[in-house]
Amino acid sequence: MLTLEFYRNLPEKQCRECGKKMDEQHECYVQECERCTAQQKA
Ligand SMILES: [Zn+2]
Repeated sequence: MLTLEFYRNLPEKQCRECGKKMDEQHECYVQECERCTAQQKA
């Protein structure tokens, strides 16, 4: 239960460009969602 409380208290990760909520499984060092990342590379 302590582990569950820990994860529940983590802030939701959002794309810094569009504010879209990002999946926690996303690579932790990426700050934009996949769509914004692709636009920057284009
Ligand atoms: Zn985005």
